[in-house]
Amino acid sequence: MSDNILKLIPSSPTYVPGESAINKAVDLIQVFLPLAEDISIEISEFPRFIDQGSNWERVTCPNCNAVIDIDWWQQAMDKAFKNGFKNLVVEVPCCNLEVSLNDLRYEWPAGFAKFSIEIRNPQIELSELKLKELEHILGSSIKKIWAHY
Ligand SMILES: [Zn+2]
Repeated sequence: MSDNILKLIPSSPTYVPGESAINKAVDLIQVFLPLAEDISIEISEFPRFIDQGSNWERVTCPNCNAVIDIDWWQQAMDKAFKNGFKNLVVEVPCCNLEVSLNDLRYEWPAGFAKFSIEIRNPQIELSELKLKELEHILGSSIKKIWAHY
């Protein structure tokens, strides 16, 4: 059995909404995505890499659009992980610009977050309008990550 997980994370890796906002958001997600098998919240002390599972295709540079070498990216990730992902800034090899690992273009989308909502097998897409409502409640713009395992 494979799973599709919809992960919702704030655009800022360090942002964590308040408890009542989180509860309200979860209530609303249950209404928006009634077929979901499970909705879980994860809050960690340091940002985590919120991956897209087998939906990974590639990562490209937001500045010059070059495809980033996967070995280079893995090494940059290992280095950043050692400091608890507190500093995500790296110098990309393509154009030597300083870029946050969070701002690289992941295809499909992925990102970094201390706070995430994970929705297992929602069956349907979360519309932009519904996402806007959740953003309003959570007090942050939200990135949608579709992961497949
Ligand atoms: Zn570049």
